[in-house]
Amino acid sequence: MKIRAQIAMVLNLDKCIGCHTCSVTCKNVWTSREGMEYAWFNNVETKPGIGYPKDWENQKRWKGGWTRRRDGAIEPRIGGKWRILSNIFANPDLPEIDDYYEPFTFDYGHLQTAPESKAMPTARPRSLISGERMEKIEWGPNWEEILGGEFSKRCHDSNFEGVQKDIYGAFENTFMMYLPRLCEHCLNPACAAVCPSGAIYKREEDGIVLIDQDKCRGWRMCVSGCPYKKIYYNWSSGKSEKCIFCYPRIEAGQPTVCSETCVGRIRYLGVILYDADRIEEAASVPDEGDLYEAQLKVFLDPFDPDVQARARLDGISDAWLEAAKRSPVWKMAMDWKIAFPLHPEYRTLPMVWYVPPLSPIQAAAAKGDIGVVGGIPDVKSLRIPVEYLANLLTAGRTAPITAALERMLAMRAYMRAKTVDGVIVESIA
Ligand code: SF4
Ligand code: SF4
Repeated sequence: MKIRAQIAMVLNLDKCIGCHTCSVTCKNVWTSREGMEYAWFNNVETKPGIGYPKDWENQKRWKGGWTRRRDGAIEPRIGGKWRILSNIFANPDLPEIDDYYEPFTFDYGHLQTAPESKAMPTARPRSLISGERMEKIEWGPNWEEILGGEFSKRCHDSNFEGVQKDIYGAFENTFMMYLPRLCEHCLNPACAAVCPSGAIYKREEDGIVLIDQDKCRGWRMCVSGCPYKKIYYNWSSGKSEKCIFCYPRIEAGQPTVCSETCVGRIRYLGVILYDADRIEEAASVPDEGDLYEAQLKVFLDPFDPDVQARARLDGISDAWLEAAKRSPVWKMAMDWKIAFPLHPEYRTLPMVWYVPPLSPIQAAAAKGDIGVVGGIPDVKSLRIPVEYLANLLTAGRTAPITAALERMLAMRAYMRAKTVDGVIVESIA
């Protein structure tokens, strides 16, 4: 056993209002210089949607993350060591600038100049680059949120299978949620594995993944290798850059900028202890659906005296051990099991976790239906289908998501009810 400490984040998606304050404050602090105009270390996506950069979840296209070989070992999806070396001169899997951006504005002038008619005039979106109507381009950051007409189509096109897709045809059945995203500071980072220069490293003391700017040669294999597409090439410096988890602030005992400025107070920072010797085994379990459970097995109980003794031997300070005991990340991920990793099937063991949004249709929730009736996913009782959330957070396993939603629904009912000495005496629907 080799115990390490990781600073991690849980985001409660139930509380995100999609205001983008986190993205803007992060950009002002970390990526406002030349060469990084298009880079968003933190961005907030509208889901279901094709995201930023375009279609980032489609690993058949981008070949990010790890794949399991026939012999059971894992290797980066862009290939083993020699293929990576041969790829660097003609890296085929890089997003281009058009995959990141099509900034657009609206024809506000039309609201004042439109001829008189029975219908209200609308301000249609127009590309800031080409000036063309965006209906022809059909893409932009958070496009799906802004143009509801596209929503149903995007739901059909999004990357989840097995749900009754036909129900999404009707507008009243569409749904949306916000997904704030940053580098996952993975326990098994694909970006570090594919870097030919050895410039990417995971800090021993807190698990933050960084790029050594002196060593980076701008090969951009990390941009391909990161399945979350959270590394950006700085065209001005010729180096790659990524979220640094605000490490200067963490070292000074302050929260990350995105956490501190979050309007919805959705972000929780905490320390988690893990066994570095179990990472390879967890990342290579045969069935993708088992990856969420496998990652849980890597984490260690900070209240266990044996773990504490061993952690001290491995150089973890008492202050960090105390932080691990108070950690909301441990509480939500391990104790309450209401937080989940984003796309565990990428096999990187990500460390930014999410509490799924609890958005039941109230009438169904009042009946006690929260997504599964008689063991069958019942998408009608939820605004956001359990299967969709499972596809995002548990590689398709619905049972853990349903259990988490049940727990949250029970907590909501308890908090709203009238209680005496902790016992419900009157429920309020
Ligand atoms: Fe590396 Fe971050 Fe991508 Fe994980 S999410 S592979 S740590 S850049
Ligand atoms: Fe969501 Fe908080 Fe970011 Fe606003 S600041 S978009 S509430 S994560």
